[in-house]
Amino acid sequence: MLGSGIIKGLLVTAKNFVGSYHDPARMVTVQYPEERTQLPENYRNFPFLVSEDAADPMGTLRCVACQICEKECPPQCIYIEKSKDKKPDATGKMQLYPAIFDIDTSVCMNCGICAEVCPFDSIKMDKVFEVAATNRFSGLLLHREQLAKSNSYYHQIHPVEADEVDTRLAAERKAAEEKAKAAAAAKAAAAAKPATPAAPAASPVAKPQDEPRRSPSGEGGPAPAPGAAAPAPALKPQDEPRPSAGGPAT
Ligand code: SF4
Ligand code: SF4
Repeated sequence: MLGSGIIKGLLVTAKNFVGSYHDPARMVTVQYPEERTQLPENYRNFPFLVSEDAADPMGTLRCVACQICEKECPPQCIYIEKSKDKKPDATGKMQLYPAIFDIDTSVCMNCGICAEVCPFDSIKMDKVFEVAATNRFSGLLLHREQLAKSNSYYHQIHPVEADEVDTRLAAERKAAEEKAKAAAAAKAAAAAKPATPAAPAASPVAKPQDEPRRSPSGEGGPAPAPGAAAPAPALKPQDEPRPSAGGPAT
């Protein structure tokens, strides 16, 4: 029918117009800042450092100051200084920690590479976007005290991702504990094992240099004592006196 397409289009428009007053899926405008929409799971803004315990954020940072994120950050806006001492990490292994960890958020481009390359799940992307400051330098340079946020906060903003990370870390901790237990048991078994008796001393074996030295004549026998007269050399057939042509020599 002529004009049916136009009528269909007008019906869709009317449906959306009416729905925008009562259908939550179509009410996309909110009265910010009094009202806020739920940000999607993968929304990201600036990075933050994950700490295990909200009561002791500096003592339970997951970061071990390996500086991989500092090297990989494209605009080089991360600055880290390693500690001089060590503390246990999430798996109980003694590790360094960041004495200084700064991010210049005036330079950060929210790429998320630091969170991707971190092998310890220590740095994650935050969802906070209201970061206006009156000082563009010190106000946007965040130190580790400002960057540290608890693991429970991480679960609030990225629930699916945080669950996966916790499951993986729990498996790593369990494997580390089992390995440590096995090593301790092997050490205890080795300590309890009785010492094996010492092997009897082997009889001395005559060495070539211990054999009696041959005499200078090469005939064998012990070498003459120093100062003794040397024995007369044995006559050999070629050394005997040769008979003269006319009989025996006079
Ligand atoms: S999000 Fe990107 S730019 Fe920002 S600190 Fe991480 S790696 Fe650097
Ligand atoms: S946040 Fe991760 S990658 Fe960066 S220094 Fe700490 S442990 Fe290394």
